[in-house]
Amino acid sequence: MGKNVDITKVVRQHADMENFFTGGFAVRGQRGRREQIEISEVADNVTGEFENNQNDKPAGDIKIELEKIADEVRCCRKCGLGSLRTNAVPGEGKANAQIVFVGEGPGADEDAQGRPFVGRAGKLLDKIITGCGLNRSDVFICNILKCRPPGNRDPGAEEIISCLPYLQRQIELINPDVIVALGAHAARTLLDTNKSIGQLRGQFHEYYTGIGRAAIKLMATYHPAYLLRNYSQDNRRKVWEDMKKVLAELDLPIPERGKK
Ligand code: SF4
Repeated sequence: MGKNVDITKVVRQHADMENFFTGGFAVRGQRGRREQIEISEVADNVTGEFENNQNDKPAGDIKIELEKIADEVRCCRKCGLGSLRTNAVPGEGKANAQIVFVGEGPGADEDAQGRPFVGRAGKLLDKIITGCGLNRSDVFICNILKCRPPGNRDPGAEEIISCLPYLQRQIELINPDVIVALGAHAARTLLDTNKSIGQLRGQFHEYYTGIGRAAIKLMATYHPAYLLRNYSQDNRRKVWEDMKKVLAELDLPIPERGKK
């Protein structure tokens, strides 16, 4: 796994961490001082700094399979949400990502654009990712549900049962080192538990993709939308504690501010 740390990146990590801890919501004005790569092109980059070192499939093959799943999702009518959506939101990101972020379901902005985490909560997730020294293009981002529940209501059990196989196939293909479950619905669904997010966050759990396959580490943490509603120092600190454990698990550098 590459560990090439450049000064620009370290400075950016510090700035993003400081901004997050001090409560700034401003989206980074120069997002992507590192060269920004279109999400659709990222999968072609199989020599990136944060390569997945356990997936035995070439990134190009994974990308093709992910696109097939995305096409299925865009045509899907397995549950009632299919007739209510503007756009399905299959997920996006690096085909051989080390980290997969899983949220609950698309909101209004995501439904309008067909992309995950592009609203206010998405901007905060971007800030968390860049605060970790990564770019959005280094990770894969998706949701339990691929279509928006009306009014952003909680996902229904039948909807989750109908939609979950798409996510399971995505995770199996990407085979990340770590899954970060954002919020109670994602964590409970992936871990098949009724425990609260307060009980689940802060420690690694195991997610199994199938018999004979190694478990994938899963870290649960607060959903960015919850953080926006409860933007306390304590909640931000808890999220960073969780993300520091993820970085340590991946042997990635932890920003100085986050070590405290
Ligand atoms: S939410 Fe999932 S199962 Fe339901 S229609 Fe959309 S893609 Fe299909």
